[in-house]
Amino acid sequence: CPALVWFRDDLRLDDNPALNAAQAAGRPLVLVFLLDEQSDGIRALGGAARWWLGRSLGALATAIEAKGGRLILRRGRAIETIPDLARSIGAEAVYWNRRYGAAEIAIDKAVKSALTTGGIAVESFGGNLLHEPWTIETQSGGPFRVFTPFFRRAVTQAVRAPARATSPWLFGSPPEGERLEGWKLEPSQPDWADGMRRAWTPGEEGALKALAAFIDGGLNGYADQRDRPDLTSTSRLSPHLRFGEISPHRALVAVRHAETDGSAAPRDVAKFVSEVYWREFSYHLLFHFPDIGRANFNDRFDAFEWADDEALLRAWRRGLTGYPLVDAGMRQLWQTGWMHNRVRMVAASFLIKHGLTDWRRGEEWFWDTLVDADPANNPASWQWVAGSGADAAPYFRVFNPVAQGEKFDPDGHYVRHFVPELAGLPSSILHKPWEAPPAVLLQAGVVLGETYPRPIVDHAWARQRALDRFQRIRVQ
Ligand code: FAD
Repeated sequence: CPALVWFRDDLRLDDNPALNAAQAAGRPLVLVFLLDEQSDGIRALGGAARWWLGRSLGALATAIEAKGGRLILRRGRAIETIPDLARSIGAEAVYWNRRYGAAEIAIDKAVKSALTTGGIAVESFGGNLLHEPWTIETQSGGPFRVFTPFFRRAVTQAVRAPARATSPWLFGSPPEGERLEGWKLEPSQPDWADGMRRAWTPGEEGALKALAAFIDGGLNGYADQRDRPDLTSTSRLSPHLRFGEISPHRALVAVRHAETDGSAAPRDVAKFVSEVYWREFSYHLLFHFPDIGRANFNDRFDAFEWADDEALLRAWRRGLTGYPLVDAGMRQLWQTGWMHNRVRMVAASFLIKHGLTDWRRGEEWFWDTLVDADPANNPASWQWVAGSGADAAPYFRVFNPVAQGEKFDPDGHYVRHFVPELAGLPSSILHKPWEAPPAVLLQAGVVLGETYPRPIVDHAWARQRALDRFQRIRVQ
């Protein structure tokens, strides 16, 4: 009898515990990916993530074909499709790696119950996190709400070693599936994915290449340079991790190996490890506080009076706020489906604090435009910036987009690349073009209000307005 392996957020062959277990059981494998956009509570993927998914599935299908098998593609509600498929192939067992959102957990429970009632076994595994969220507990047995103690506790726990399938591949005869092209995951009219195609190689091979490139490059100096958007100093593994094209286990073993063989400094490795644990923390929060994408973690924020300035929101989305660092970030996002972490913080803070826009509006835009749009990291990070989250930045921390630009893009390479209409300005004035003398603007071909906007709000005024508004809800 065959084993059915149900791929979800784990689009890889390497270090895939569900796949490895099915293979080790010696049964012929039938492999399926299900596009489920109909089950209750499922949040439909945004445009950029759909593009990524299409590419990633193409890569997975090719990798499976190279082993002599075929990936079946199905669409529909999991509760119907998976048991039907398992029955139709006479599967003895269904294997999957676990998911952590409330809707996904409910679906998986229902599918499991339907399968086991029908005499089909279910084997589920922890595949995409270093630690299952419920295994990290406070002294009193509850969830953590603060990162540092979470991290301290988590790093003392054992992590499984990444494993590659060792048995020969044996495939069952798969039933017909749908064609990937029929799913129209890639945009056609207009085709806005060109910049993403140039920036990324979705799929397992792309993930391993990104990891290798990081170990040879950005890792060296990561601790000091990871905040610099003008340098290629971070791993850019986020979309690969999001879709499970690489396991965090594999990434950390490789990075730690660079430390033991002397090619990476302990400081840089430690910083990278702690960033990967921020992802673990977000999933810990998502699991224990499943409403994290909708409700303020700190409910004092429920009384906050958002201004919801639609004109500002529009300008922000299009990268036309008049603040060069914010605009460069928003354009990087639109063009490549990704934004550097430091700029994400500045851009999010700008929308929330300068624009008094509800963080959920920004989270939605990121959800639609990020290739790494993640059900845990995205809302947890937005709430962190808003000050409404677990272990959040204090509400009175209002990033100054000019000072941030001067500090983290000191030579202006990042802004010049994504905001080319300012490229001719000297670095000393690039992050605050409104202070440039007329002659300098003229020479650089910049006409404020025409070729590039004036600031949509004044920083000092907006900062004070935000502080006053936050005072009213007396957040601690
Ligand atoms: P690296 O610096 O190379 O880090 C390695 C990995 O660690 C990342 O791939 C990521 O998985 C994890 N990581 C790094 N920083 C963080 C962080 N601050 N929080 C959680 N995990 C982290 N990350 C997403 O993966 N998906 C999102 O939807 C997302 N939305 C965000 C929204 C906002 C407003 C902010 C401020 C941050 C968001 N992040 C999100 C976190 C972070 O910006 C990205 O993970 C990071 O920029 C990815 O780049 P990298 O892979 O080069 O990171």
